Amino acid sequence: MTHLCVSIYVNDLAQARRDVALAAERGADMVELRVDTFTDEMEVRSLVSSCTLPCIVTCRSRLEGGQTELDDVQRLGLLTAAGEAGASYLDIEFATMRDNNWAGPSKPRDQRPGWIYSAHDFQSRPLGLNQLIIDLAQSTADIAKVAWQARSVRDNIEAFELMLQRHKPSAAICMSEPGMISRILAKKFGAFVSFASLDSASATAPGQVTVTDLKQIYRWDAQRASTRVYGVVGQPIAHSMSPAIHNRAFDHVGFDGVYVPFLIEGTYESFKAFMETFLEFQPLMLGGLSVTIPHKENALRYLQERGATIEPLAELIGAVNTVIVARDGDDYTLHGQNTDYAAILDAITDTLSITRDALAGRRVAVIGAGGTGRTAVAALARYGADVTIYNRSADRADALAKEFDGLSGKVAAAAIVSLGAADAEIFINTTSVGMHPNVDASPFDSATPDITESTLVFDTIYNPLETKLLRQARQRGARTIAGIDMFVRQAAAQFEAWTGIAAPADVMRDVVISRLEVS
Ligand code: NAP
Repeated sequence: MTHLCVSIYVNDLAQARRDVALAAERGADMVELRVDTFTDEMEVRSLVSSCTLPCIVTCRSRLEGGQTELDDVQRLGLLTAAGEAGASYLDIEFATMRDNNWAGPSKPRDQRPGWIYSAHDFQSRPLGLNQLIIDLAQSTADIAKVAWQARSVRDNIEAFELMLQRHKPSAAICMSEPGMISRILAKKFGAFVSFASLDSASATAPGQVTVTDLKQIYRWDAQRASTRVYGVVGQPIAHSMSPAIHNRAFDHVGFDGVYVPFLIEGTYESFKAFMETFLEFQPLMLGGLSVTIPHKENALRYLQERGATIEPLAELIGAVNTVIVARDGDDYTLHGQNTDYAAILDAITDTLSITRDALAGRRVAVIGAGGTGRTAVAALARYGADVTIYNRSADRADALAKEFDGLSGKVAAAAIVSLGAADAEIFINTTSVGMHPNVDASPFDSATPDITESTLVFDTIYNPLETKLLRQARQRGARTIAGIDMFVRQAAAQFEAWTGIAAPADVMRDVVISRLEVS
């Protein structure tokens, strides 16, 4: 069993008791009481004896990131008192044990608390990590714990290996944001414990995930060794809604998967190194990826280099947002898709109750010429629409028009100031104008085209759920498509590509709405 342990930095007894109660309420089965500021054994006894969850007691040395002023002998006294008061486990640095030549516990395990010998490096991977693991295995520790600052997401693989190859119950933690997955996936890899924070403000180590997120987003209760791993690759990634959406969908259909964030630096080399390492690490069972900024072009290039199959329109657009890893034993094949373009097309054709082929000849104004603008233009041009691009930077609109004109339909660029004179049946905003926090802006503010009941206005922005542009369009009686429609469609298509199961689109939509409402 992997314990879900909330780490509590204890300032006073009342706060500790409150936090322990909250940790239990939020689903932890253990707490770590960090008593670095304590000097009085009686207070520690009182704290431990009133703790309502099994606890680890830690009084961390300054050399390994703690705050205590006590010397090693005094700390050992404090921990021993905690053990006598009923602590389940006591954590002491392995270096402290060695520096003092302490032999470790003398009583049999069933007559005393378990000893966790820990080692921390807040700079990087410890130089002698392999020897450290051997020494911990041979030591009197009941549980071995190593934690180090992740240099990149790839360090997690070594942590997973340590959890799997354990000689005794172990924890291997990569600290900082790229290392978050060592905490999220600790249960899958059979670690002794994963440390979580009570809330985002009270983390006791970098990259700690809250207990609520581990339980409610990352499917803690459902994780097991056979669980397949999916994730979103990007930089930044902290505010991505994709983990919440996909994990809820896995939950809803009972799929044995977990979806995590992969923070990967923006270069192609970083992306490639991530792919090569994570695809080959068989126990992870990487099943698929969502790819977001800045890696959509890198994903296409990587798949091309690997000779993977790639959806033709994704190649044409020059961006892959979905990677499917089809596994057959130790072998796997890769496939790349772009579910953004299909989401744009299907949102339009479903609203108009037409087929994609019926887009031929329709007059479409695409506002914006960035990544989403490019996707919309390519998709519409492929199905023969008559597209005009309006963009603040005219040169980008011109270049995009040149690239896709004649693909099947006509594509031209026009000055953004002429948007008011646009004669289009469909308007698609792919700029960030009107996006949170600038919710009082709209691309129609300076130039409002002639919009009627037969016009369709599509805003790809999903935060806020209803943009000013959509309100302006509705006031004129036009039909509208909100960005959440596209967002849910692209996520649902990814889900189906990975699982082969119909996506619970309504459940996914509810997750987006509820997360936007609380943000
Ligand atoms: P991007 O590549 O950076 O492109 C941004 C576009 O917005 C460019 O055309 C840029 O014009 C224009 N722009 C930015 N600020 C502007 C301003 N103040 N005035 C006029 N134009 C401005 O970004 P992206 O990835 O395409 O994303 C664009 C939008 O698409 C975002 O709002 C996002 O919410 C939305 N989106 C939605 C979904 C979905 O699933 N619903 C998915 C992806 C993106 P210049 O060329 O002149 O800089």
